[in-house]
Amino acid sequence: MTDVPTGAGAVGAGGPGDGTRVVRAGLPEPVNHEPTLPGPVFAAHFHLSGDVTGPYKYGRDENPTWTHLERAISELEAPHGLSAPDGQESGPEGSADSHGVETLVFASGMAAISAVLFSHLRAGDTVVLPNDGYQVLPLVREQLQAYGIEVRTAPTGGDGQLAVLDGARLLWIETPSNPGLDVCDLRRLIDAAHAQGTLVAVDNTLATPLGQRPLDFGADFSVASGTKQLTGHGDLLLGYVTCRDAERAAAVRRWRKIVGAIPGPMEAWLAHRSLATLHLRADRQNANALALAEALRDRPEVTDLRYPGLPDDPSHPIASRQMRRFGCVVSFTLPTRARAERFLEALTLVDDATSFGGVRSTAERRRRWGGDNVPEGFIRFSAGAEDPQDLIPDVLNALNSTAN
Ligand SMILES: *Cc1c(COP(=O)(O)O)cnc(C)c1O
Repeated sequence: MTDVPTGAGAVGAGGPGDGTRVVRAGLPEPVNHEPTLPGPVFAAHFHLSGDVTGPYKYGRDENPTWTHLERAISELEAPHGLSAPDGQESGPEGSADSHGVETLVFASGMAAISAVLFSHLRAGDTVVLPNDGYQVLPLVREQLQAYGIEVRTAPTGGDGQLAVLDGARLLWIETPSNPGLDVCDLRRLIDAAHAQGTLVAVDNTLATPLGQRPLDFGADFSVASGTKQLTGHGDLLLGYVTCRDAERAAAVRRWRKIVGAIPGPMEAWLAHRSLATLHLRADRQNANALALAEALRDRPEVTDLRYPGLPDDPSHPIASRQMRRFGCVVSFTLPTRARAERFLEALTLVDDATSFGGVRSTAERRRRWGGDNVPEGFIRFSAGAEDPQDLIPDVLNALNSTAN
């Protein structure tokens, strides 16, 4: 799924390739004797004399380290044609003008998700959530209901949310869904929502902006956890919201100020540094995920194998139309809880841990959390950047050695 280099001396007709874009994303104009990516700015407050003007005043509202990262993510999430990697310098309030979109970073993916939902929904509104999405969504649902918001849910697969869209203020999409890896038709759902004035937010965590750009399909918000493949080292939590228009962005920014769920400068800087290798990590990890899925396909003890990049996966037809990379997560089911536990124990190159998207492979028996509606033997596997000739045999050996 790697973009084919254009071969041209300058940037190709379709603009720079993904590798070029991520290594340069969000960098300020070169300044003699300054670093390429300025270090984290640790500041609770900034010098401010006289009137309250200028970009940086108080650390809950803005920080130059966020500004660079927000600009980088805007470049990657902006719909094609709007992205302008050579964007002019602008302050945090003006991050929109060089990319046509505006990004706000948060302390975690959940902070970003909550910011969109709680800044845009009021008592009496209706929101449509997936019923197979991220495991914290049921808690969010209870909280929304406690505030007098009607919540409808429907499955991601088969575009099930279409059936319950009527009159909703906001549609929340998660595709591919975590952990079931169903995919819905973004264009179809977004067009149907917009035709009746419904806002659309897409959780883009699993795909990353190199895998899919929801704003290309008209979404009003692309929201993600930066904790996963976006930053990819399992060493920080982060979230972001990219907004199509300034009015929406202002509401999300206001929410961030009220709630204060802001990332530390160190996390924001680490995230930006990690972003530069996103295409390398994603290409290697996603290729490993595909190789793993192919190797698991013929195993008798494996059922419900899912990977959107497998040509015969039910998600593949839609995924291949709207995604450019299929992610690093593979899911499958082993016959029993005991077998799944023994399998995880027998892996030597794969850590038993939650989360996904890191350069070190992880896997877990998802049911242990109690949240997801999956079988006891359900495994969510996140392929890392190991050599496939080491990783795949490790998994097959673990299956063989736990066969009885
Ligand atoms: C992990 C995850 C989140 C939450 O992100 P945090 O950074 O853990 O708060 C939201 N959505 C999806 C799809 C996720 O995988």
